[in-house]
Amino acid sequence: MNVLVINAGSSSLKFQLLDTNTREVFAKGNCERIGIEGSFVGYTVNGEKKQLDVDMPDHKTAVQHVFEILKAVDKPIEGIGHRLVQGGWYFPESKVVTDETLGWAREVAPLAPLHNYAEADVIEICRDMFPELGNVIVPDTAFHYNMPERAWRYALPRDVVDKYHVRKYGAHGTSHRYIWRTVDEFTNHETHKLVSCHLGSGASLCAIEDGHCMDTTMGLTPLDGLIMGTRCGTVDPATVFYLNRVGGYSIDDIDTMMNKKSGLLAVSGVSSDSRDVRDGAANGDANCQMALDMFNYRASQLIAEMAASMEGMDTMAFTAGIGENSAEIRAAIVDRLGWLGVKIDPELNDVRSDDPRVISTPDSSVKVLVVPTNEELMIALDVEALLG
Ligand code: AMP
Repeated sequence: MNVLVINAGSSSLKFQLLDTNTREVFAKGNCERIGIEGSFVGYTVNGEKKQLDVDMPDHKTAVQHVFEILKAVDKPIEGIGHRLVQGGWYFPESKVVTDETLGWAREVAPLAPLHNYAEADVIEICRDMFPELGNVIVPDTAFHYNMPERAWRYALPRDVVDKYHVRKYGAHGTSHRYIWRTVDEFTNHETHKLVSCHLGSGASLCAIEDGHCMDTTMGLTPLDGLIMGTRCGTVDPATVFYLNRVGGYSIDDIDTMMNKKSGLLAVSGVSSDSRDVRDGAANGDANCQMALDMFNYRASQLIAEMAASMEGMDTMAFTAGIGENSAEIRAAIVDRLGWLGVKIDPELNDVRSDDPRVISTPDSSVKVLVVPTNEELMIALDVEALLG
């Protein structure tokens, strides 16, 4: 099935057209600076890289440009899959777009206002422009929806939790689900307790037991858990009250500080990109070294936490920008788990490949894998399952 996958942000719209059978990607690209001066579409069609400098005052114009670009592919689009950052309390799984499901996407949007409103608008635009095509909503939270209550419930008053739907929703669920599927197949169904480590500019871990999410490190929002490129991860919630009352920062200031000005960027003082931080550390910058040490320290701590939530772990899988590419960070994290008997082979760890691969030693207590993620394919497979 030829599926168009759309990942809309407040000022961007990423797209990919792929075949779920052959997994061939016919076209992919990104509409950038929507609603801002200097908008353009960077894309690759039939293997050729191009850029289209066009006015995109709104998402509707962006969708029109995407469909115009896709005419060059000469493949019929048979369905559209939409990533939704926050499915809230309505989406234990992906769902076909109807008035009702679209309404749900909007109803839960206050939990992720920067993403959900734009995503819901784009879903509506696609449905109205191409009524003959089926649309599917694939929420990033769905995989985590049925984790045990002891994991998702916050120890806050029940009436507050119920009224405001305050709970752990997690994120990166589509990636973690893809990693589970791939690992399950790759290890010939021998994996039962997997810790999936999605380490990119956003980063989260997921404890997956026989295909079910048992816990994850992101919370009500993707701010919780690991240290990330610009996000602080877990800090004492009282930090917010203190900065507000004593520091005089507004709630919006603190929101921006914790989401956009913290993490590797803040500690290193150099960059949110782990490669720049690595280079800084190699040149003797102590703040860069501390940023990396903290990143690795928190990752190893939380991997053990995820393992504890399953009372064990037989497999770990690294994925996303850092997890797939940084042998140094993988080694530093696993090094801190030596007490659990986890060991990686330095030579295997240095191998570069686009395929899933083992990097642990034969006597390691836990199989350690590197598995390239593919959220677009996972979304397209959901579209096929629901519409195909
Ligand atoms: P993502 O959000 O998954 O695209 O990941 C972005 C992160 O991956 C950034 O911190 C990059 O520094 C990191 N990354 C990407 N490529 C490499 C690489 N070849 N080596 C080390 N880190 C990388």
